Amino acid sequence: MAAMRDCVVVGAGAAGMSAALTLGRARQTTLVLDAGRQSNLVAEGIGGLLGNDGRPPADFYAAGHAELQGYGSIDFCRGEVTHAVQEADESFTVTLGDGRRERARSMILAPGMDYRHPQLPGMDERWGDSVFHCPFCRGWEVRDLPMGVLATGAVGVHGALNLRAWSDQVTLLTNGGELTDQQREQLAGGGVDLDERPISGFDGPGTELHGVAFADGGELAIGALLVKTTLYQRSSLARDLGASLTEPDEMLGVEAIKVDAMYRTGVPGLYAAGDASTSVPPSMAAALASGHLAGAAAVVQLAAGY
Ligand SMILES: Cc1cc2nc3c(=O)[nH]c(=O)nc-3n(C[C@H](O)[C@H](O)[C@H](O)COP(=O)(O)OP(=O)(O)OC[C@H]3O[C@@H](n4cnc5c(N)ncnc54)[C@H](O)[C@@H]3O)c2cc1C
Repeated sequence: MAAMRDCVVVGAGAAGMSAALTLGRARQTTLVLDAGRQSNLVAEGIGGLLGNDGRPPADFYAAGHAELQGYGSIDFCRGEVTHAVQEADESFTVTLGDGRRERARSMILAPGMDYRHPQLPGMDERWGDSVFHCPFCRGWEVRDLPMGVLATGAVGVHGALNLRAWSDQVTLLTNGGELTDQQREQLAGGGVDLDERPISGFDGPGTELHGVAFADGGELAIGALLVKTTLYQRSSLARDLGASLTEPDEMLGVEAIKVDAMYRTGVPGLYAAGDASTSVPPSMAAALASGHLAGAAAVVQLAAGY
């Protein structure tokens, strides 16, 4: 039978490693289990994280891992948690893909999210580069290029108007979706062009974007594309443990684990941090902060013995 640790952390992205650092510094025995697929690994650099602006994500995660290794109470294992249960004494038992079992008195879920964007030819190979979901992450790197926004309705209007902060040439591409007269007026008032034609694909050399092709044979030159993306849970772990999820909201598009201000899920001893429980636009900074708070809340709970 595996030793009972103070906390098991599922996921070693910004949130999980931040939680583990907080736990380790409070001398809590902590096991970090990670499948190694942080959502921004595909990106060239991290945009907008103070002290790490532009740093390659893999470099950032390696540095975080090295910091955790300095704390004797933190263990790190590569592997995917496939199953988790809460026992009668409120401790947690997790099972990994290879059948291994681990136990802990508390648990922090930090598994990130599955980012899904509409599937059109030419998008996947440019994802994280010239095709992106977050202007605060990537807008600076593509500033001043002619840009498209692939979305419709209020989300599209909001995204396109916002993108004007980074470019004077923004076109909302609705891919056949129609806007209301009021939404058209909003776009025109904000200096945003509108193209409602169905799209057949995106092209350009390598990961660069040079244009959008329409089904009617027309083309439009754009150098970057902001795309509406919805975030989904990567597994059923939170549900299996009895945590509640929010409905994906239209603007943010996140199906998040419900938490309070200290990232408690309502299930005793279970916390959720990072993208998986975010109610604000996802970012590395928010993930770090939430991981820290979840870790601190777990320490308080463990120290108090409840
Ligand atoms: C393409 C892209 C580019 C981005 N660029 C930026 C940017 O420039 N700036 C910025 O601030 N934000 C950016 N973001 C957002 C940012 O990456 C996320 O907000 C942040 O990574 C969330 O951290 P996290 O720890 O919650 O999840 P993640 O970083 O996704 O880490 C979760 C970890 O948990 C692991 N895991 C999942 N399930 C299990 C399981 N069952 N068992 C074990 N391990 C598991 C995963 O494999 C992964 O390693 C970007 C996102 C994407 C998709």
